Amino acid sequence: MQYVKGDILTHDGFKKGYLGFEKNRLIDLRSGSPPEKPLAKGLIVPTFVNSHTHVGDSFIKKKKIKLPRNVEDLVAPPNGLKHRLLEKASEEEIIDGMKTSIDEMMGTGTSYFCDFREDGINGVYLLSNALKNRKIGSIILSRPQQMSYDKNEVELLLKNSFGIGLSSISDWEYSEIEKIARHAKQGKKIFALHASEVVREDIDLILDLKPDFLVHMVLATESDLTRVKDENISVVICPRSNAFFNLKMNLKLMKKTKVDLMLGTDNAMLNIPNVLKELRYLRNSTTVFSTQELLNMITYTPRKALNLDDCIHGPNSSGNFVVLDRKSLKSVYISNK
Ligand SMILES: [Zn+2]
Repeated sequence: MQYVKGDILTHDGFKKGYLGFEKNRLIDLRSGSPPEKPLAKGLIVPTFVNSHTHVGDSFIKKKKIKLPRNVEDLVAPPNGLKHRLLEKASEEEIIDGMKTSIDEMMGTGTSYFCDFREDGINGVYLLSNALKNRKIGSIILSRPQQMSYDKNEVELLLKNSFGIGLSSISDWEYSEIEKIARHAKQGKKIFALHASEVVREDIDLILDLKPDFLVHMVLATESDLTRVKDENISVVICPRSNAFFNLKMNLKLMKKTKVDLMLGTDNAMLNIPNVLKELRYLRNSTTVFSTQELLNMITYTPRKALNLDDCIHGPNSSGNFVVLDRKSLKSVYISNK
């Protein structure tokens, strides 16, 4: 048996103690000191969930081109630079980029990621292809190829993915997005979308779609966030992506309204999908959140929102964990590496 010692992040906050484990299986979770010298000491937390990625554009990062720092020109469908580059790229190039991102996540303690796939059913196949022989949980959210609703297409997408993840309502004809959302909900699948990233969008229209979670909410007002909290909908924030586009979230408001927050790394062409880096970036740019609150954004909160059950509950759970240095929050030990 091997041991790690320190402050274990549980559902109820940090508890002092140690974990005993064997072959990635947790045998013991106790207070006090382990019977043998621990492999590592520090903050012991469940492996991470990266709640928002677009790994499909990883290949663009490799091109090292100067990207426009404006959402409309870079990522808005269908004419943003990203979509034009995707159209020109070969499937092999896209899949290779995806593999780089997946390996980055696997190597840095992420056990699940939630990807907003573009390019219709083909986009789902590309990611499934990149995931072959790689051990990581993937929550693939797909979207129609065109900006319109087609019953058969959505049926196929829902069959082959965890649900639908769309760009914002501003990009869409509302009646089309409504039909897609309703279809996803009827199929008991996830429906999520980007919201209020560069302009404040109508929260009533957004909530009428019954989303499972929202991404960004940079320009949301206090009442928007309160409505979201009241509906029990979590929000994924992507601080490094916002910073790239010079968008400023109101973190104090987010904390005040107590909306459940999760962290995502957003477009892989902007930042490598290391969600712990995203967390450290947020910690360095604000004092609004405690270490515990920050760590919950990449561990327990997304697991609750995405219905994942792979945590370090106690003896015999299969949950993997990461030990972090208390000060730097850099990982000193990753159990599933
Ligand atoms: Zn996004």
